[in-house]
Amino acid sequence: MAEYPSKNFIAGQWREGGSEDFAEIINPANKEVLVKIKKVSQQDVKNSISAAEECFQSWKKVSNSERAEILNKISELIKERADDYAEVLSLENGKSLAEAKAELLYGAGYFDFYAGQAKQISGRVIEESTEKKLQVLKEPVGVVGMITPWNFPQAMLARKLAAAFAAGCVCVAKPDHQTPLSALLLAKICEDAGVPKAALSVLVGDSEMIGKELMESSVVKKISFTGSTRVGKLLIEQSAKTVKRLSLELGGNAPFIIFESADIDKAVEGALASKYRNSGQTCVCSNRFFVHEKILGQFKEKFSQAISELKVGSGLESSVKIGPLINQAAVDKNNKLLEDAKKKGAEVIQSHELSQKEGFFFPPTLLVSNDLEIDAFQEEIFGPISIIYPFQSEEEVLKLANSTPYGLASYFYSQDRAQIQRVHDALEFGMVGINSGRISSPLAPFGGIKESGYGREGGEEGIKEYQNLKMSLELL
Ligand code: NAP
Repeated sequence: MAEYPSKNFIAGQWREGGSEDFAEIINPANKEVLVKIKKVSQQDVKNSISAAEECFQSWKKVSNSERAEILNKISELIKERADDYAEVLSLENGKSLAEAKAELLYGAGYFDFYAGQAKQISGRVIEESTEKKLQVLKEPVGVVGMITPWNFPQAMLARKLAAAFAAGCVCVAKPDHQTPLSALLLAKICEDAGVPKAALSVLVGDSEMIGKELMESSVVKKISFTGSTRVGKLLIEQSAKTVKRLSLELGGNAPFIIFESADIDKAVEGALASKYRNSGQTCVCSNRFFVHEKILGQFKEKFSQAISELKVGSGLESSVKIGPLINQAAVDKNNKLLEDAKKKGAEVIQSHELSQKEGFFFPPTLLVSNDLEIDAFQEEIFGPISIIYPFQSEEEVLKLANSTPYGLASYFYSQDRAQIQRVHDALEFGMVGINSGRISSPLAPFGGIKESGYGREGGEEGIKEYQNLKMSLELL
């Protein structure tokens, strides 16, 4: 296993933070402290921003193909070190080793993809007349602040960095204080791959202080944020002062609809993949299962059987599928949702006994209810609770699926071609899984609408988030 990083990466230097406080990185499977990292001071953030600004002047002149080579090297190193780094990721976040490795390789996929995109950056010339020529060029936005969550501590940063470096930007990143190790290991890889010093800082520290420094700085031209809608809204307010560009990947409340014609075995497989990855702690996790009443019995039986077979334990134990939740607050939240559902008469199916476990564990749970006022239908669950609502008609279920302020991921299973087209068109979400419980790919734009945010990561759209357009008109 790789050694735990114990220092910040400040303007290209591995250094202790200048504050008096430490971030304790805890293994959520047993609550033991893995390592302590001295948090950064306000001055460290300022230094990172000004060093990045200086570095930008040379980095933006590096040729696209040279940048592509560095991105390819980053991907190569991630793949080479994936086994070692996966253990660290699993220990800080709780997810299984297999999922941790898959996350690292998913992150590498973004560097692969954007290495290709970097080489294709191009502008255009519009010949309006023989006397007039218009030119449109793409320029990197400059210094970018990045704020990332704990649920994908490597991949959420990887997909931002890959597109930003491809465009020619420099970055000051703030990972979640609970899971900074994978982000610091990614910084190590960037350093080893030849990313210039100060083109990247990874700072562990107080989120309000770092957030404010990044938001108020006129040098930082853009913030890319992945996290809750609550913090996203705060950043929108803070961005007004400097009219800062924002990309916001926020929360979700994904519907998963199973129509009468669905292949039930495949729907169960997709439901498991979309709901129970990272113990239910992903923004694209299905949050509300809508099952046609005619197939409710069959689906419930097969899904509850599949859930009962999910092994719960420390992510490092072999064949574990459900690791611990990230912290006690997450366990408390899931308990509260469960109590609320019980109070409102939901059927509860739980088959795991976890009383011996020391960490932040919560048993995979299936609820069935006809009451849409249950909190678990309204809120992002972020845990291993599934809740089923039986429906009768396509019209009814589409109305229910869309009746949420969120618009990130959605899923449905059907074998009726005409219905597939209708439902796809009617769902008000940024992403739709059709007969699939998995939707992300570095090749396509990931992101949401409504209160799930704006901006996209991945695909040819992702690099545009880090580019300014410059138009010029020349009289010949
Ligand atoms: P969160 O509380 O919003 O935290 C996310 C990041 O924001 C962390 O690094 C956190 O730092 C930081 N932060 C907190 N308060 C801040 C402030 N005042 N100023 C600046 N930064 C601040 O989100 P979470 O609950 O940990 O993460 C889960 C959420 O992320 C869910 O809602 C999930 O849906 C969403 N998410 C969305 C996507 C997507 O692509 N749409 C992907 C993954 C997760 P500290 O924790 O260190 O304070």
